[in-house]
Amino acid sequence: MSHTITAIEINHYRLPLDPPFLASWDPRPRTSFTSTIVRVRVGDYEGVGSGDAMLGFAGHETLFLGQDPFDIARHVEVLDNLQFHYGRMWPLEIALWDLMGKIEGLPLWKLLGGNSNKVRVYASTGGRLPPGQRAESALELQALGFPALKLRFHAQDPNDDLAVVRAVREAVGPDMDIQVDANQGWRMPWDIRPSWDLKTALWLSDALAELDVYWLEEPLHRHDYRGLAELRERTRLRIAGGEGAREFAELKEYLRRGCLDVYQPDVAWSTGILRGRQLAEEIQAGGAMYSPHTWGDGLVLLANLHVFAAVSTAPFIEYPLDPPTWTPDLRDFILPEPIRVDPDGTITLPDKPGLGVNIDWQALQTFRI
Ligand SMILES: [Mg+2]
Repeated sequence: MSHTITAIEINHYRLPLDPPFLASWDPRPRTSFTSTIVRVRVGDYEGVGSGDAMLGFAGHETLFLGQDPFDIARHVEVLDNLQFHYGRMWPLEIALWDLMGKIEGLPLWKLLGGNSNKVRVYASTGGRLPPGQRAESALELQALGFPALKLRFHAQDPNDDLAVVRAVREAVGPDMDIQVDANQGWRMPWDIRPSWDLKTALWLSDALAELDVYWLEEPLHRHDYRGLAELRERTRLRIAGGEGAREFAELKEYLRRGCLDVYQPDVAWSTGILRGRQLAEEIQAGGAMYSPHTWGDGLVLLANLHVFAAVSTAPFIEYPLDPPTWTPDLRDFILPEPIRVDPDGTITLPDKPGLGVNIDWQALQTFRI
């Protein structure tokens, strides 16, 4: 039976709350956390996806209307063309996969070829806290069953952040993995500080290896391919990166030069699903890890979880969580139920078709902008 796309609709939603963790490093006054949801329909079937705001898409709907949603490789090429000219377009690809899953009656992890709906996750914290407070929060995350947590470096003096990692390691003991995100790969719009240089990255890699850190994320500018490859060569710590790479060629270049141990392209932000799966196979064939970044709302998280469940052999994937300020209820405000983690540190993905959620459009109406 053939299907053709009959409608595409894009709406924006706002949670009227400033995610408080941002205040510890983001100087801009903010009043909301926003989500963009793309809806794509074939008759009575509807797929949804979220992520960036789809800037520049309006007026290009006709490139997809009347097309077969299953011509996904064609759609990916068109979306890639569009995002050369405009914003990032992968939310529509996610919606198409959700739609295909619903038409086929298969959950996305199964449609993508996976054989398990269990995903192990690490708690990814967002804010900066003094060493004692972060050590306490790490103990709480450990008690909740998380096998690992991620900390961010944002201090002027990296020694201050090292003190946080040291306090956390002392608190949680040797059994919980700790990842560190240096956030040197890209900058927020106002932030014109230079990225670390190779010497700084090497010094910190060695210091973090002493604390038995599992990986160091984005220790250099994202395009410093030579520096990343050399750093990886000279340190025993795993180097992670690639979360927001805009061009597929950037990620291929990391692979070609052997820049990373852990590849983190977000399916909603960086690669889309088809290319994420393709890249994961290449990464794993070369002995590296595929563990996507998933910083976004509940639909973004779900999309990454499904792809990870289907293809990844890495030990865990990111789960944004920094209680009490950043909680599953706030993060997943567009979902009818937040995505929760079982006491063994895993998430069981829904067996319902597609992404496995039915959005409560009526409940969401109050957040619409
Ligand atoms: Mg990161």
